[in-house]
Amino acid sequence: MIIVTTPDITPDALDRLIEHVEAAGLRTHVSRGAHRTIVGCIGDDAALGEHGLTHLEGVERVLPVLKPYKRASREFSVGDTAVRLGDARDTVIGGRALVVMAGPCSVEGRAMLHTTAQAVQAAGARVLRGGAFKPRTSPYAFQGMGSDGLALLAEVRAATGMPVVTEVMDPRHVDMVAAHADILQIGARNMQNFALLSEVGRVQRPVLLKRGLSATITELLMAAEYVMAQGNGDVILCERGIRTYETATRNTLDVAAIPVLKRETHLPVIVDPSHAGGRAELVTPLAMAAVAAGADGLIVEVHPDPAHALSDGEQSLEPGAFAAMMAAVARVAEAVGRGVGSELGSELGSELGSELGSELGSELGSEHGAATAATRGAW
Ligand code: PEP
Ligand code: MN
Repeated sequence: MIIVTTPDITPDALDRLIEHVEAAGLRTHVSRGAHRTIVGCIGDDAALGEHGLTHLEGVERVLPVLKPYKRASREFSVGDTAVRLGDARDTVIGGRALVVMAGPCSVEGRAMLHTTAQAVQAAGARVLRGGAFKPRTSPYAFQGMGSDGLALLAEVRAATGMPVVTEVMDPRHVDMVAAHADILQIGARNMQNFALLSEVGRVQRPVLLKRGLSATITELLMAAEYVMAQGNGDVILCERGIRTYETATRNTLDVAAIPVLKRETHLPVIVDPSHAGGRAELVTPLAMAAVAAGADGLIVEVHPDPAHALSDGEQSLEPGAFAAMMAAVARVAEAVGRGVGSELGSELGSELGSELGSELGSELGSEHGAATAATRGAW
């Protein structure tokens, strides 16, 4: 259940309320907005009884949350979650401006990583991607450079100032990867590796959680809940295509998942058009569709010489094609009331919160609904 407090609740009354809930054996999750604070309660709320709570000081309303995910649900949060990155915390995922992450599938060496990073940065990407530990279908395929790849990512991060996202596959590697990366990527194949999800939940690093090959949207949100339950609320969800009967594309991009997720959760949602389509010529149209459908960002594979890439060359854009994709995406972003990568836009977006707003948000009459409908365009 969630407890909606009165606008004038005092800090002491809020503390007493939290103590009361926790004394009944429940866990609490507090979300503070400019005008309203919400206390989410997780556990057996029969122990509390709705009626007893409504008489406590500072309680306006008590509402049930019927979804299996709690911390990830829109009801548990006042407005959208914006994930801040980089040393200056000035890259914001989940604000008004889209954030594009780009780079090679795998880190293959120093020169190619530098070249790719400079090219994608010049085209407007804000975050550098690159796999050091690679989940490959065949044990005989290139498995990534491992810790040497992490060191190269850190080196290029320092040279360009770009935050870095890279995959972690093993719970034993979480601290090592977190020491080099700004975002910990959980790959599609590990979306339900619950030990790994709990482990990344324990570190204070944003997590990019990719949807499993055949995972439902609810399963994706429950995977996010595993991370959040350990105290790490900075989860970015990624739709990267799901497996269907279609064989013309590597996967099927589930465009509908974007608005569904935006309705269900306050977490940012990005799209990977590279793994979804599996072919370079599909990347731009899928990226445009994703932005039109409300994605907060993209993650795209770019390689200086795709024909000789050690992994996923067929779906990698060469730098010129990536710059053209960015121009196409910027036009769609503008059409739906969003920019690409502008810090001003991000600040504005995160302050205004969600344009969709939860039912609760609109019921509460917060500024979010009205202000963002005007700012980000109607849906
Ligand atoms: C990747 O991003 O390189 C990757 C392996 O993606 P996914 O887990 O979505 O297949
Ligand atoms: Mn790849």
